[in-house]
Amino acid sequence: MPSSPTRRSFIKSCAVLTVGAGMGLPGPGDVPWGSGKQAAGQVMTVNGPIAPEELGFCLPHEHVLSRFGIDPVEPPEYDEAAMVEEVVPYLTYLRELGVGAVADCTAYSFGRAPALLRKLSEASGLHLLTNTGWYGAADDRYVPEEAYRLSAEEIAERWIAEFADGIGGTGIRPGFIKVAVDGGPLSPIDAKLVRAAALTHRATGLTIKAHTGDNAPAARQQLDLLVEEGVAPGAWTWTHAQNTPDAQDLIEVARRGAWISLDGIKTPYFANGRMQGSDTLDRHLNHLLALREADLLGRVIISHDGSSFPPEGTVRRPMDIISNSFLPLLRAHGLSPAEITVLTVDNPARYFTLSRQLLD
Ligand SMILES: [Zn+2]
Repeated sequence: MPSSPTRRSFIKSCAVLTVGAGMGLPGPGDVPWGSGKQAAGQVMTVNGPIAPEELGFCLPHEHVLSRFGIDPVEPPEYDEAAMVEEVVPYLTYLRELGVGAVADCTAYSFGRAPALLRKLSEASGLHLLTNTGWYGAADDRYVPEEAYRLSAEEIAERWIAEFADGIGGTGIRPGFIKVAVDGGPLSPIDAKLVRAAALTHRATGLTIKAHTGDNAPAARQQLDLLVEEGVAPGAWTWTHAQNTPDAQDLIEVARRGAWISLDGIKTPYFANGRMQGSDTLDRHLNHLLALREADLLGRVIISHDGSSFPPEGTVRRPMDIISNSFLPLLRAHGLSPAEITVLTVDNPARYFTLSRQLLD
């Protein structure tokens, strides 16, 4: 595809970044990919790169920490002692259920805390992943001011730098890109964030997890933006796709090669003295069976969108429903052990493996 002046200048700026890192002159579009820091073919956890098969049973969309719903702040402050006391036993419990890895989807400005995640990972023995990117959903509440004046290329440079050098001086590198959009048609700021995610993917091979909700036009429009930037749909995830009523929309997007995230798996649970939440198992099951029928199980990831340390006044959302309820339900509906492994182990391993998905 033709290179626009903005893309040329972007590639040039990346080249400077790579040369600065002493890696020599890369080819166009190959920067800073190929640097010794890249860990291509591996998965980036808060404790550094690991082989994809080391992840094991992986929950690809959860919130180990979160301040969602309260005012944006970066970096966040947590009561560390309280968190360790509350969260480590829960993560240890997940590990006892057979979980090997959890991706923390808590984004910049609503609670991302890589150094704390590393402590929690070391204390629990779970692999944890954190993210780079900015969150444009929730009516842009968590979008940093500077996002409005920076170009997509300049935003991508920030995110690429987090991957190259670590987040906020911690040396901890993101394992995926997290962006979020409100419904389609995309607002200019949301479109800019998606474009920045595409550029960041081109340079790093990080997979793009895009909070999109129930709006199929917003999903299609994001894929079109990716393609304009030369990025294949396989680099992108329709996150919260379960909220879309018509499984045909999911099938159409998965056939283009994108990932479908059926997260938000819930049953009613007891918290703060009463039962909370509703049962989503039927909806998740029906979507999953439709995708399986269309031979698209290889494009699906499942998770809870749970929360193990929610802000005061909100409740913990469980991360054990898949193990305790959803997988037994899938077995009862005829999914084989091999298919369960595809969903819980093989797909997340492919999903998080650093790998550039380019069209050209
Ligand atoms: Zn989430």
